[in-house]
Amino acid sequence: HAKRQGRNIICCYDESMLANTQRRMLLEVELHKALAEQQFRLHYQPRINADDKRIVGGEALLRWQHPEIGLISPDEFIPVLEEMGAIHEVGAWVMEVACQQLKSWHDAGYTDFVMSVNLSAVQFRDIRLAEAIGEVIQRIGINPEFLEVELTETAIMEDVSQTQTTLALLKEIGVRIAVDDFGTGYSSLGYLRSFPLDTLKIDRTFVSELPGSREDRSLALAIIAMARSLHLRVVAEGIETQAQAAFLQDQDCDELQGFLYSRPIDDQAFDQLLRKGIIAV
Ligand code: C2E
Ligand code: MG
Ligand code: MG
Ligand code: MG
Repeated sequence: HAKRQGRNIICCYDESMLANTQRRMLLEVELHKALAEQQFRLHYQPRINADDKRIVGGEALLRWQHPEIGLISPDEFIPVLEEMGAIHEVGAWVMEVACQQLKSWHDAGYTDFVMSVNLSAVQFRDIRLAEAIGEVIQRIGINPEFLEVELTETAIMEDVSQTQTTLALLKEIGVRIAVDDFGTGYSSLGYLRSFPLDTLKIDRTFVSELPGSREDRSLALAIIAMARSLHLRVVAEGIETQAQAAFLQDQDCDELQGFLYSRPIDDQAFDQLLRKGIIAV
């Protein structure tokens, strides 16, 4: 009986593994073309001040529109870029374009605008990272206080002694540091306290059941209280409803981000939002 069951499992497992491998190989081939043919774009999603609903910044999000397959999610292709070793090249491109955009919004008069840029765990482990970011900031001529790098909780907890070194280098060039997807990893509070962080982004899985779920309400409150005691700014991701926004604003969350306000959009659409300033929903 067990044998029969086992065989079925192995059979299905093999097929899905093959499909995964094929998809990955396809993506790898297509990503080489994407690099050569410049198929990448950046979109931006606004970050909203919870109290007055003004746009205080935006998160740069990488988009890959494949000519035949269509839009492919960064959650799927970024791990492939990491494995290919191409994340450094793409990451450098993201930083360059995001900083140029930041410069142009500052020059247009949005002088308080903060741009956040995601860094992958592989980029974070590159010892030349801070120097490379410093070079971009200097060359483009932006104030580093208005650039925030986002690192996932998992990435910063992976090798804490290297994290201390890299974060110190990033602080030296003056950028802000955010912990992304907070709550999904395994943070040691002791380390969290010792890192020079500025912002904590509550993962959207803790937001989606708000305000209905009692557990998620207490978790959100606990995360906000912890961030407060560490003197960190708190941003909630994945806000889709007014009720979620109202609850988090009441609990003194500083910033909100989510489809309720805007999906990630291209630079021209973002210009329109900036001209309005406040997002009324
Ligand atoms: P993330 O940094 O946590 O970014 C937030 C993700 O949540 C984005 O997905 C965004 O579109 C999505 N989102 C925002 N508001 C809502 C909402 O209200 N509801 C729901 N359901 N989703 C919402 P996206 O753009 O597909 O990116 C996925 C992940 O890929 C990012 O998660 C980030 O980890 C990674 N990523 C994106 N761009 C880059 C990049 O330039 N470099 C690196 N290293 N990673 C990136
Ligand atoms: Mg992010
Ligand atoms: Mg996130
Ligand atoms: Mg407040």
